[in-house]
Order: sequence, then C-alpha cells, then structure tokens
Amino acid sequence: MSIGYKSFHESSVKDPKGFWTEQAKLVDWHKPFEQVLDYSKPPFAKWFIGGQTNLCHNAVDRHLKDRAKQTALVAVSTETEQERAYTFEELHTEVNRMAAILQAHGVRKGDRVLIYMPMIAEACFAMLACARIGAIHSVVFGGFASHSLASRIDDAKPKMIITAEAGMRGGKAVPYKPLLDEAITLASSKPEKVLIVNRGLSEYSTVANRDIDYASEREKHLNTKVPVEWVDATHPSYILYTSGTTGKPKGVQRDTGGYAVALASSMRLIFGGNPGETMFTTSDIGWVVGHSYIIYGPLINGMATIMYEGTPLRPDAGIWWSLVEKYKVSVMFSAPTAVRVLKKQDPAFLSKYNLSTLRTLFLAGEPLDEPTASWIHDALKKPVVDNYWQTETGWPILAIQRGVEVMPHKFGSPGVPVYGYNMKLLDEATGAELGPDQKGVVAIEGPLPPGCMQTVWGDDQRFVKTYWETVPGKTVYSTFDWAIKDKDGYFFILGRTDDVINVAGHRLGTREIEESISSHANVAEVAVVGVEDQLKGQVAIGFVIAKDPAKVANMEAEVMKTVDSQLGAVARPARVYLVSALPKTRSGKIVRRALQAVAEGRDPGDISTMEDQSVLAQIKQVIGK
Ligand code: ATP
Ligand code: MG
Repeated sequence: MSIGYKSFHESSVKDPKGFWTEQAKLVDWHKPFEQVLDYSKPPFAKWFIGGQTNLCHNAVDRHLKDRAKQTALVAVSTETEQERAYTFEELHTEVNRMAAILQAHGVRKGDRVLIYMPMIAEACFAMLACARIGAIHSVVFGGFASHSLASRIDDAKPKMIITAEAGMRGGKAVPYKPLLDEAITLASSKPEKVLIVNRGLSEYSTVANRDIDYASEREKHLNTKVPVEWVDATHPSYILYTSGTTGKPKGVQRDTGGYAVALASSMRLIFGGNPGETMFTTSDIGWVVGHSYIIYGPLINGMATIMYEGTPLRPDAGIWWSLVEKYKVSVMFSAPTAVRVLKKQDPAFLSKYNLSTLRTLFLAGEPLDEPTASWIHDALKKPVVDNYWQTETGWPILAIQRGVEVMPHKFGSPGVPVYGYNMKLLDEATGAELGPDQKGVVAIEGPLPPGCMQTVWGDDQRFVKTYWETVPGKTVYSTFDWAIKDKDGYFFILGRTDDVINVAGHRLGTREIEESISSHANVAEVAVVGVEDQLKGQVAIGFVIAKDPAKVANMEAEVMKTVDSQLGAVARPARVYLVSALPKTRSGKIVRRALQAVAEGRDPGDISTMEDQSVLAQIKQVIGK
C-alpha cells in the first residue's frame, strides 16, 4: 500500500504534533505524554513532554509476551569462530544480570557509563542495561587509541567503564585493556569502576579496587531481576561522539522517547522490516548506525539483529551473504566503503548463497558513487537504497522511503527529505532559498524531528553556535553538507561545505569531481581536494587508487580528459596523483582536510580519529612535500 510521499511529508512538517502523535503509538508508554512538542526555547526541541518510557523495555521486555522464544540477537565472530543466538527471553535475562552488576557498583539513573568494546554480545547487554536503569551510555569505538579515548572520558565523565580485554581483527588479538588503562591515566576524570569482559584472548593487568571481572560478577546475579526505570521522554539515553572527519568530535546527546518513536517509525516506513524477521547491519556499535540499526531499531521493532565481529573478507568474501542465507535476513544495512571492498572480489561470492529472503540493501555514511551502486545492485538484483544522515540526527534525513511510496531511485542521490524533516537548500552567503539545480548548503528548519540530537553534551552554547548560527539571517540547522536539489525534489550531496572549492570564481563540490573521476574504468577509489593557487584562488587536486596498478601509464591525462568531457575544463584537476591508500577515519570516511593540508604543505592538525596515520607520510612522499 502506498500512502503517497508528497502528502505524507507535507503533513509531517505542517502538523508535526498530529503526525508524531500517530507515530508515537508504535512504542510503549508507561505514562502517556501530555504535550507532543515544546518548542518554546528554539532551537531546543523537546518531544513527548510528560510521557515516561524506557528504551530497554521497548527493545526487550515488551516482546516477551509474544516473542519470548524468538531470536533477538545473533552474535557472530569470524575472528574467534564463535556464534551464539539469544532469544528475547535470554536477552532479557542477560540484560538483567548486567543491569544488576551496574547497580551493585553504584551506577544510578543519569550516571554515565562508557562502553569501549568489540562487537560481542556483552556490548549489547551493556547498552541495554544502561537504558534499563536510566544510566547514560557513551559507546566509544573499540579501534580508538588512548588519546581519543581519554578526551571522551573527560567529556562524558563516566562513573563506570565497561570493556573487554581485547578485540580481534584479521585473526590477531587487539588488546583493549592496556589502551584503556593508559587513557584513564591521561584523563583528568577517573571512573570509579572498570568492568572487564575477559574473552581469554590476551593477558592483562588489573587495578585493585577499580577493576572488576564480568564473569564472576555475573555469577552473583544470575537470577537478579532489575525493574525498568521509567524515565521522562526527554531523559538523555546516550552520548555519542561524531566520527571526527572534520575535526574535534562533538558529543551528541540523544533523548529517550523521541528516539524510540523515530526508530520505530523508521523501521516500518524506511527500512521495511517486519517483527519476527532478521536485520543485519554491518556497522559497529561505536557509530550511530550501530546504535540505531544494530541495537535499538531492530529490537524495538521485534526483529532479530546480527552483531558481526570480523572483516567482510574472512574466511572469504562470501561471509556476509552466508549469514544472510543462514539467518534469513530480510533487511541489510552497510556502507559504500564496505561494498567497495567487496567489489574488488569475485561477484560469484554473492551468487553462491540463497538470498531470497533479502528484500533491500541500505547504504549510508558517505557518498554512494554510481559504479559502486551499480555493481552491488547487479550482483544482488535487489533494491539498493542510499540514505543520508548524521550522528546528530540519529536516523535518516534523505532517503527513498519505500514504506511510504516506492519512488524511483536516481543514481548519485540519496533521495528526498524524510518525513519530519523540513529541508531547505540555502545559499551560504545570503541564506536565500535556492531553486532547482543551484548549489547550496543542506539545512533543516527547526524544530528537528524526534530522535535528533537534543544538544551537545554539557554545552548548549556550542550546540547553538555550531549548528544553528552559520547561515546568515536565519536560525536553521546546518548539516555542513553541500548539495543541489533537482526539479523533482531529489537531493544530490556534493561534499561537505569545507570541501567546496572555488576555482577562478566557480564553486565546485569535490564530490562532483570525484564522481566524474570514478567513472574512469581503472579508478578504484578517489579523493579530490581544493588546494591554494596564486592564480586561480584554488585548484582541484585528485588522489587516485588504481584498480590495476599495471595500467597506469597515461592515467593522469586520461583522468583529466574524463573530467573535461563530463564537467568541463574548469573542474579539471591541476594534478592527479596515484596513491596506494587514502587517509580515512576509523568509520571508513576519507579525511579530505588532512589531504588538503598535506597538499598545501601544512600541518594536518588533529589526526587522532584516523585509522592509519602512516598513510599521510606515504602521500607526502608521492607529492614530494
Ligand atoms: P564530524 O562531524 O566529526 O566531522 P562526520 O560528519 O564524518 O564527522 P558522521 O555523523 O558519522 O560524522 O557522518 C555524517 C556525514 O557523513 C554527513 O554529514 C555526510 O557528510 C556524510 N554522509 C552520510 N551519509 C551520506 C550519504 N548517503 N551520501 C553522502 N554523504 C553522506
Ligand atoms: Mg559531521
């Protein structure tokens, strides 16, 4: 059944109170809300005032009536070769045990608990246990080293930190505990307790009176029941730091009621998942996609969710698809960067498995280029749905919302504004609203819909200043992304506003040039940055990873010709360098600001959120700086 996108979206922004009252029926309320929205202090939007609910109750307890024996969580590790499924009943039991441990060590409603863990079931228990007792979790991606971790400890000031002694990647143990110890030494704020899940992967030392062992604590609470703490809809559920692609990560604070409602509705209207089915999101709990669509979204919707520890290539490139077959996955969610990894492998790895249960593959996190989209679409023969959002929003901003209307896809576009978002495309210099095919900044008129960030943790001023005061003459939320909108209302993201370059007075999104370069048959990956130029103000510089390094004799000239013919000579990069790797964040996003700094011979600044810091040194060599 199709509701009709246009009228649906219109009703959501014209009558947000009516619209979200309806969506709020998808979750359980301990106490019904009295007021849908309080926007008396813009830009701070408070949703479902007076209402009380709980994320853990909605994700777990409420399903016990009908789905106690149904699978809720499947934890698969191709690193330790362990695989374990938990029913809703079993998940409930484990979450109660974890919640009992937290309480026994003094964690109370409103206290922060930092979770620094690999993709194991206990990480899911920990998040849900926090939600159960009203504690605020802050998951920090397990790949971060002590410096990044310390800055997050100082910002969130956790009472407890939950960790595992090690993760595992590519068959090797990656110790977490020593990094955490170092981070705590570096941080000025000290946690009272550190709870350690010992996986038996690596040796570690403990600190007396601070470190506690999960397995022995769990033994003490095997049968403890911890009642759900009913919290106000506006009670913070978690703090999550942004990926740090553009600089200092921001602590995004999320509420409880609005988030539950936004996720529940998105599961139906965007992701099209049905209770009783399985969702497989290949992200990590350290990122927003992991929070919303590994843990809370599918569970709130009564679906089973898969947590996967391992790479997409081990034991071979068919591993994800084998899980789709085995667990009858109906909804899958991944990222373009992962698909690019698979694309280098034989597509036969996909066709080997029975993927008949899979309805849709969702991709988000960075621009989805046409070659990547076509490759995965042809290999799967299922709809591939690009969706655009941010840590700040918690759920998609732009997407084809197949549960509302199955609108056509357009390559290079994540689609149209999601219901609830009053989207504007604005001129950065004047704030004026732009017409079709004009380039501008993607903005959202307040109030932000339910589920979006409430504020920057501990810093309301920073929230207002960073996000709401950058477009002249208007108080609107800026995404800091640059786009065009076509006559049908589809947005095309052209890059971040920082990445817009000005060549002899022409404004160009680096994404446009990248998209063009990636259409060259021998380009595997590309990044374009603007570099200072005395004559033209800025020029574009391209960094290309070749698919076949043996065929690069005329690569630079060919790439320039490709851009010339598609975008015109004005967009032609001044230089194209062949490199073997690009600097990326740990979530797989290209850090263009670091490339730009290196190309301009500047210091790249804070690169602690970067995956492999040696990549920059290699690039310096290639360009001779
Ligand atoms: P920081 O804000 O700390 O610099 P970040 O912006 O990379 O880090 P995230 O919130 O993880 O942190 O990423 C959101 C950004 O990712 C968006 O603002 C946009 O630039 C990009 N993005 C996400 N999804 C898409 C998509 N489907 N198409 C294009 N870009 C996307
Ligand atoms: Mg961002």
